[in-house]
Parts: sequence; structure tokens; C-alpha cells
Amino acid sequence: MDVKAIVGKRVYAFEEGDGKNKKLLGGKGANLCEMTQIGLNVPPGFVITTDACLDYLDSPLRRLPQGLMEEVRGHMRALEEKTGKGFGKPEHPLLVSVRSGSALSMPGMMDTILNLGLNSATLQGEIAETGDPRFAYDAYRRFIQLFGKVALGVPEKLFDRAFEEVKHKAGVVEDVALAATDLQEISERFLRVVEEHTGRPFPDDPFEQLEIAIKAVFNSWTGKRAVDYRAYHHITPEMANGTAVNVVTMVFGNRGNDSATGVAFTRNPATGENKLFGEYLVNAQGEDVVAGIRTPKPIDRLGSEMPGMAPQLEALRQRLETHYQEVQDFEFTIERDILYCLQTRNGKMNATAMVRSSVEMEREGLISREQALLRIQPDMLEQMLFPRLDPLVRAEPIAQGLPASPGAACGIAIFDADRAEQLGRDMGQKVILVREETKPEDIHGFFAAQGILTSRGGKTSHAAVVARGMGKPCVAGAEGISVNVARREAYVGEVAIREGDLITIDGTTGKVYRGQIATVEPDFTPELNTLLGWADEAARLCVMANADTPADARRAVKFGAVGIGLCRTERMFNDPARLPIVIEMIVAESPEERQAALDRLLPMQRADFKELFEVMSPNPVTIRLLDPPIHEFLPDEHQLERELRELHRLGETTRGIAVLSGTLSLIHAPAAQRAEIESMRRLVDPVLVEDAIAKKETMLRKVRALHETNPMLGHRGVRLGISFPEIYRMQIRAILEAAADCAQKGIEVHPQIKVPQVCTAQELKKVKSYVDEVEEEISARYGHPVSFKFGTMIEVVRACMRAESLAQEAEFFSFGTNDLTQATFSFSREDAENKFLPLYNQSGILQDNPFEVLDVKGVGKLMQIAIEWGRKSRPDLHVGICGEHGGHPSSIRFCHEANLDYVSCSAARVPVARLAAAHAALLART
Ligand code: ADP
Ligand code: MG
Ligand code: MG
Repeated sequence: MDVKAIVGKRVYAFEEGDGKNKKLLGGKGANLCEMTQIGLNVPPGFVITTDACLDYLDSPLRRLPQGLMEEVRGHMRALEEKTGKGFGKPEHPLLVSVRSGSALSMPGMMDTILNLGLNSATLQGEIAETGDPRFAYDAYRRFIQLFGKVALGVPEKLFDRAFEEVKHKAGVVEDVALAATDLQEISERFLRVVEEHTGRPFPDDPFEQLEIAIKAVFNSWTGKRAVDYRAYHHITPEMANGTAVNVVTMVFGNRGNDSATGVAFTRNPATGENKLFGEYLVNAQGEDVVAGIRTPKPIDRLGSEMPGMAPQLEALRQRLETHYQEVQDFEFTIERDILYCLQTRNGKMNATAMVRSSVEMEREGLISREQALLRIQPDMLEQMLFPRLDPLVRAEPIAQGLPASPGAACGIAIFDADRAEQLGRDMGQKVILVREETKPEDIHGFFAAQGILTSRGGKTSHAAVVARGMGKPCVAGAEGISVNVARREAYVGEVAIREGDLITIDGTTGKVYRGQIATVEPDFTPELNTLLGWADEAARLCVMANADTPADARRAVKFGAVGIGLCRTERMFNDPARLPIVIEMIVAESPEERQAALDRLLPMQRADFKELFEVMSPNPVTIRLLDPPIHEFLPDEHQLERELRELHRLGETTRGIAVLSGTLSLIHAPAAQRAEIESMRRLVDPVLVEDAIAKKETMLRKVRALHETNPMLGHRGVRLGISFPEIYRMQIRAILEAAADCAQKGIEVHPQIKVPQVCTAQELKKVKSYVDEVEEEISARYGHPVSFKFGTMIEVVRACMRAESLAQEAEFFSFGTNDLTQATFSFSREDAENKFLPLYNQSGILQDNPFEVLDVKGVGKLMQIAIEWGRKSRPDLHVGICGEHGGHPSSIRFCHEANLDYVSCSAARVPVARLAAAHAALLART
């Protein structure tokens, strides 16, 4: 019986292996097979499968699978026939390389062994054949060194020491100056090094060498470097399991000046330019290029140095690209004017290069539009849209925090929001706001700063969320930095950062640097516009933006958003010029007082909305009525108490001074002294202090009255709108009047009024009644009806369950998946992310962070139900998502499949979402 029939084939010649089966043959092996089969000049060789590797690793004593070496011997015989050489034969010795390669390229796997098959006999054959003892001994010593280090575990420095000793003795500086006899001596010393270290002579039998090398490749799969790499990059056995072994006939780039070796990309990996990009070395062996011993030359020069080769290389480039329909990263060697290709794989490129090559390859007819879109991972585009640190600048970071909001920024360190505003806004300086953590009252500092750095808090801390919303870089939780706001200093270990010192932060990596590091501006290239245009054609989902200010909206338009899916009106309330009025509105003791404050806010909101409408025209703008608990606009209770205590103390002092001056008028104090006391008295008027105390007390009372145990589940959203109808009425009026104003000017606008936190249709009915009232009055006043849509957020579980009846009031649903996720899991986001979620993820209880990746099984199910039921009562119900998930590719895929009409995400994510929406449509089709 045929043994192979039972255990299956474990070795494939390059002529027979399936070039698509990377799991079985490894990426390198599969591509060597494929290149051979399409007629490229690959040195003959074969691949031992990853299955053989797994069998070997599974065997209790780590024995090669039975029959494997016989199979290998068979293939070696075939190699001998193909090459006309003999393995271990002094006449025309056959030498091979032994190379690892798994399904995914994985640094950390075993280094390649070159020149295997050399021993004392074949060495002589090699000398006789080439007539070049120097070349032969050089090959020999390289082999002993590589084999000794990689397969036998001999420390590299033992070889280095022996090498240096001979070099010293020979009195040469450069390796190339070593004579054949020097290299012979080095080889002999290397053999002794191996024998001394391993206690056994260096294996002379080529098949023994081969067997040891194969085992070493297999073993490297479970080596620490490889295991760590897989863990770090989340490489699962489904993605890559075991390594293959490639045995390849040696070709020599070091046979003289008609030989060379090099690596190249078929297109420039940094720019995408359609031109061969790479480096080469004349008269060198492969590893020399990578090892950096000699400086390689740019590939452009090959034409002048080896005129015949450049066209051949160009032809190879064309063949590779036409065949793989992807930019290739390949290795080549030229032996005596013959070009060999030794490896190819898909080139890793940056986003700019990916986009440019996609568009150009489509135009060249190399790939379809669909391929052009699908070959780029949507998340990659984010790289292109933020200022980045100049990649040419090398600098050591002083601290590492969390990459909380992408992009790089440089400015002077400033430790409080007021000063940041003074210097940043008023004096036009570039400022980085540095805080332990930030609070809502720091918001004006954010506006004035280039970026934000905090030493505490996570990716969902206030600083992170606000910075992301504004599209400003933020590094959060840089724990290595201790911030002392009072002294206006921060420390990183011993190093102090003082106010005014230049620092640079990189919110994409979380790194913090001292001094100024050049940044490069984002490039929204014509190619990117073309590609995204194609994406829009392919996609079914529309992409809108979450934008709160006209500046956000302008960015959103630039990035291709077709509307605003979420405008958070509270951001407009937080503006420092308005906050006092907002506070007045909140602390008002009567409806009249409240109305007075609202009357002052109305024109401001109306102006905001008008500007937003104008920027977005003719696209829709969805405005969410006030959502957060109102005490968020008020000062902190403890701070108020502290301030009151201080005011009381001041009150006593001023009263004391009043008493003193009164007393002094009774006794005859000298005139000079009396004047002094009088001026002191005038300095602080006790009446003013009393006023201040009264104000603060009212405020404190209000803060206490508004205190909630659980504000996020408390008096907020539509609940506020029901208790304080005048607030919602003012906002509704501002929206509709702004729309009417625009319409009058001939600007096409589509406002959409969105009610947050709704759980029952009764709430919607109530708010709708305000809308109707206001609308009736305005349309009467303007003489034409105002067109708008009325709809609801869906972010409460009950709202999903009552979707059918909500849809009778609402013309659109907008899923607020941040809150809906909290509500579905009953996790508070901050607590989850800071406490137990990492453990849940690590231990596999939850696969992803549901606040980043939409939980399709739970939250998604609720969404599907809500959509189905909602559309039952209103078939043309418009449905979108505005949580952070709206910018996340896999969540967008779900939104496409769940039949949403649009996704809405921060402006910065809009291009990512556009491409992801196209991917969703294209992948759903296949
Ligand atoms: P890596 O995966 O680290 O790139 P490779 O197996 O590709 O390792 O090999 C390392 C170097 O040795 C490369 O420069 C490669 O081109 C060269 N090399 C490998 N096999 C041969 C061979 N048979 N003949 C000549 N050079 C080779
Ligand atoms: Mg390689
Ligand atoms: Mg919400």
C-alpha cells in the first residue's frame, strides 16, 4: 500500500503546489509555487507543508512524521535532475537554502539558512567549479555561521569574536579585503566554535544538515519570539497554523560584478507612484542587503551599472503586478546576468500609497473598481486625515499615554483653560492644554488649544470624548506625567515641563515628546476624492456627520458628509459667553425669570442653526433637543461650599473693618491713619459681599436641589423637556425661525428635530404639540409653512419595544447606540471600561468592547426589531445611527444589512465610513 495515500502528501515541488493555499504552504511557499507556474525564473525547489510542521510539533518526542525524509529525498533527487547538480557530490555540488514561511508573514520566525550542502568535499567541488576559492570559503563560513546560530543555537558572538580575531591578524578593516586564506581560516575556526559549543563535530552529511534544518524551522514556530508576535497581533490558528519549510536551490549574487541581489516594490510604498522602488547591491548575497553591512544603492542606478538587467527587472515588475493584481514586494538575485525571483508578497503600503495605487491600477485596467475599493481597509484612511508627525524626524518620547483622539499637535504647555484661552485665542499662540483630567468648565480651553494632554482618565474620559468630537488630538491618561496645576508644572520622572515649554503630542500613538516636532498636514488628495466618489456610487448607506458647530459642519462637508445626523445643542450652551445665561435659566426661581434668560439665548441659538443650515444646504441637519442633566452646566457643589466659606470669612473681615473705621472716628486717631483705614474700607464693600453670598447660596441651593443619585438615568433628555417646556420651546423656535429665515433667502434647508431619551409615544406627542404650536405661529408670521421632520432618538430599551407606536409620531429613528448599549448591557460605560471590561475581553467572556464594536447579537437584535416594527406603522420611516459605532467599519456592515438609511459619525471618520459603506454593499453582494 502506498504510504502517501494514507498520510497525504507533505512535500510539493514548486511546479505542483497550489499557489492559493497559503495555509498549507505558507505565504512564501505558495507564492514560490505560483511564480514558478506562471513561468517566472524561480530557482527550483519544494515546500514541506504546515501540516507536517503541526504533526511534528504534536509528536511527543518531536520526531519528524514517518516517511517525511523519504519524501524529501525524492524531491532532492528531482532537484538534482532539474539542476544537473548533486547534493553532497563534489562534482557540481547542489546547495540549497532552507527558509521558513507561515500563512502570514511573521518576523520572529527562523532566519534563513543559506548554502546548505557544503562540507569539506563539496567545498572542494565548489572551488574547482568556480575557480574562486575566496567565493567558496566565504560561502562556507556563512553557512557554518548561520547553521550554527540558527539550527544549533551557538551564540552569535562566538562567531563574531573568531571573525574579528582573524580580521585583526590579517590587518584588514573591511570584510571584502579578506583573502581566500583568511576566509579559510575563519571557516576552520567556525567549525571549532561549533564543536566546542555543542560537544559534537559540525554535521558533514548534507542530509543530516537538511534534517536538522527542517526541524529547526518547525521548532521556531513555538519559539518565544514567534509566540509573542502572534499574541501581540492576535494571530489565531485559523489565520496561521504552523510554518512551512522552503528548500530552494541556491543562486549567487556574489559571483562577481555581473551578479547582484536586491529587494523592490513594484510601486513606491510611501507615495504609490507607479515606478519600481527598491535597493540592490552588486556582488553580494541576499542577507547583505538586509543586514546593513554595506549600503545598498537605489534601484534607479541598476540601469547604468548593469544595463542589460534593468529591462528584465522592469518586465518582472509588470508580470508580477499583472498576475497578482496587487502591488508586490519582491526579492531578486542576479547570478551572472541571469535574473531570479526569490520571493514575492503583497506590498505593505501607507494609506496615501494605497489610495493612489488603487486609483491608478483601476485606470491602467489592472483591477476593477470593486477591487480598487476592497483592497483598502477603511480604517486605514484615518491616517490621511490628521496632521501626522513628520515620519522623517526621529525623536524619543518622554511619556506614553492612551491614543485618545488621533492626530499630532505641537504647542506650549499650559495648565489651565483660562490661560489657554488667553494665549491661544487672544494672542494666537499654539497651546497644548495639560491637565490631570478635564471637566466641562474647561471647554473654552479645548477650543483654544491645538491638543489636549491629561495624566488621568481613559479613552472615554471627558478629555478624550470632547477632543474626538472636535477632531483635536488628545493623549489621555499619560500616567508617567504628574501634573501640578498650582505650580504650573508637570514632571516626567526628574524632567520638569514648565508653563510655556514646547511639547508635542501624538494622539494617534499616545506618545508625548519634549520640544517641537514637525508635523505634516493631512492630504485629502485628488486620488482620495476619486476613490471616495467610487465608494459613494457603490454604497447604499448614506454617510452623515455628528457636528455641533459650523466649523465641525464645514469639515464634515469637506470630508463628504451628506448631512448632519446629530447636532448636540448642549455644546452651544457650553460656550463661555453663554454659560452665565444658561446658568441664569437654570437657577431661575420663576417661569418669568427663566423665560427672560431663554429670550436672551434664543437669538444665539437661532444664529447657530442658521449658520449650520447654510453650511449644510441643501442637506439635512438633525438637531437634538437638550439632552444632558442640566446640573452639568452648574458649578460643582463642593467648590461652591468652599467659595461660600471664603466669602463668609471675607464678610466678617469687611464687617470688622467697618467696625474699626467706626470706632476710629470716635477716638482721635492721626489723620494719616484714618485715611488709610478709610481706603481699606472702600476696598471691599460689605454690601457687595452680601450680594455675592446671596447669589452663591441660591446657586448652592439649586445645585443641591438638582442633585441626582444617578444623573445619567435621571432628569435629562425629553424628561427635562416635559418638566421645563419653555426650554424645548425656545430650541424649537430657534430651529424653525432659522429655517424660515434661510428659506426666505432662497437657501434650501431640511431641519430635523430629534427628541432624546424617549421611552413612550406620549412623550413624543407632548413635544410634538410644542412643535405644532410654534410652527403654526411662525408659518403665519412668515407667510409660508416651514418644512421640517420630527423624529426620535432610539436609545432606551423600551423605545425599541414600542417602536411601532413611536413611529406613528416620529418620521425618523436615530439609534443612539452609546446609550442603547449601556441600557442593553446595564453597564455604565465609564465603569465598564475602567474596571471589568478589559478582564471580560481578555478572558473571552466578551469578544469586543461593545462601546467600540456594535454588539450585533444583543444591541443589533434590538435595532432590527425596532426597525421592523417601526416600519410596520410607517413604511417610509427613515432610520440611522449616530452613536460612535456609526464610524466603525464592522458596525457599518451590520447597519447595511439591517437596512438602515444612513450612518452618522464624527467628521473625521466620514471618509472611513464612506469606504466602509461601499465595502458593506460590495461584500453583501458576493
Ligand atoms: P526572510 O523571510 O527573512 O526574508 P528569506 O528566506 O527570504 O528570509 O531569505 C533571506 C535572504 O536570503 C533573502 O535576501 C533571500 O533573497 C535570500 N535567499 C533565500 N534563499 C535563497 C537562495 N536559494 N538563493 C539565494 N538567495 C536566497
Ligand atoms: Mg525574504
Ligand atoms: Mg444619548
